[in-house]
Amino acid sequence: MGRLTKAIEMKRKKLEELKEIVEDVRKAEEDWHARREPRDCGITVHPGIGCDLGCVYCYIADMGFPTDKVEPYPLSGPELALALMLNPNVAPGPTGTYVAVGSVTEPFHPLLLDKTFEYLKWLKYLGNYTQMSFKMVFPERRLNEFLESSERRLSVLVSVSSLRRARELEPRLPPVEKRFELAKKIKDGGKGVAVFIRPIIPGITDKESKELLELASSYGLEDVVLGGLRVTQRIMKNLRSLGVSLEGRLRRLPRGREQVYVYTRDLRDKIAREAESLGMRVLYTACDANARHHGEVCWDSCIFERELCERLPPVDPRDLREGVEMLGGKLVSFELKEPVLKVEAEGLKKNAGWIIQMAYRRQVILKVGGRTFYYK
Ligand code: SF4
Repeated sequence: MGRLTKAIEMKRKKLEELKEIVEDVRKAEEDWHARREPRDCGITVHPGIGCDLGCVYCYIADMGFPTDKVEPYPLSGPELALALMLNPNVAPGPTGTYVAVGSVTEPFHPLLLDKTFEYLKWLKYLGNYTQMSFKMVFPERRLNEFLESSERRLSVLVSVSSLRRARELEPRLPPVEKRFELAKKIKDGGKGVAVFIRPIIPGITDKESKELLELASSYGLEDVVLGGLRVTQRIMKNLRSLGVSLEGRLRRLPRGREQVYVYTRDLRDKIAREAESLGMRVLYTACDANARHHGEVCWDSCIFERELCERLPPVDPRDLREGVEMLGGKLVSFELKEPVLKVEAEGLKKNAGWIIQMAYRRQVILKVGGRTFYYK
């Protein structure tokens, strides 16, 4: 069985199994996880709603999430797994959708820990390549539970932004040393671990990045992912009060809650050089880290390093044709120009493109019924 047909067949099986296990199917059907489209790093899974840890660069308040409290997500583990399988944009298994846990909350928040472990356990059951990032730490006595409940090669990002000014930026988070300590234990437990330097705050992160990387290296952490910075009006004000200047780094000023990217390419290049000089491996994006920790590459890896295109999984024409049929359509033609797969088909729904994208780990352009959809 090829990659696409395998993912679709596995989705059918998991769906059947989960419908037997879950009592309240409607609760899963009505949940957001059953409808959302994947983002850059696959489908995001939220073990909680809100976060009360108050990082000054955090944008969840501007997205409408509560910042004075945090609550475990109302779905149980099986309900979450069912919601994901009901989502027409998502497929399970090693040729299915990448999963990212906890992008709008802190998965190791003490009030979310049980829920996070439960979700990891059910994601392990689905078999998707999963990634999570963390800033909080949990007690040593729960380490084995974490290692056992999560999939074998879970990709873990330990998120840091500053060493010396962490208390101003992230007043309620544990010191960076504590985060690295836990990251080391997780790595020693067999998971893929990378230091996620994010956000990169101009004038802060880049000033102490060498020290930060040396510290990470002293804990045996070898992979680095460099993130960016997005600001809203509120975040700009917070950063200004800490003396951070974004002059010349914004294409335009943000309006209200709107998030605007800050230019940090020069700083990322500098930090990447520092990491490489310490013998660390720089991974291009969180998605790239998820792929590499699972022993593969994705289109993101390939965009940044052309030679990696050779390591993308093959696109088997028969598998593609049969997969498109299983998704309810008919393949008209396809063209592969790495890392982009162009597919023309009849009778396919838009969400089929996400399944094809993840099965072959490529960007996809889908032409169907005179319309063109992009999946990147
Ligand atoms: S821990 Fe994450 S979600 Fe919570 S405030 Fe900090 S950046 Fe926001």
